[in-house]
Amino acid sequence: MPQQPLAQVPLDATWEWQELGACREADSTLFFHPQNERGTSRLRRDRAAKAVCARCPVVAHCADYAIRAREPYGVWGGLTEEERERVYLRATLSAYGREKGAGLRAAHDLLGLAQ
Ligand code: SF4
Repeated sequence: MPQQPLAQVPLDATWEWQELGACREADSTLFFHPQNERGTSRLRRDRAAKAVCARCPVVAHCADYAIRAREPYGVWGGLTEEERERVYLRATLSAYGREKGAGLRAAHDLLGLAQ
């Protein structure tokens, strides 16, 4: 089994934004795939989770946190694991550091996510 990186929580991470997340009212199983989920099942679940994120008032905080923390699992800030992997592969620490806002800036620049 490939080694998965663990989330690296930024030292300046804050959590109060999570109290406002639209996912607090949603089915939490939408956001994290079950083991061995693939294909259209995964695509449908990811889309449903992203639809919740699309109406979330803290989507920017969430995406910024998830990218800075290198969250390996789940849909965060409207970004799937694969979308965040694309950011991690292309983002260099010299261009995108670990400070607040760097994750969102990387997502904006590399994926075209609105800031
Ligand atoms: S952006 Fe999505 S995952 Fe993040 S708090 Fe909002 S609903 Fe939850």
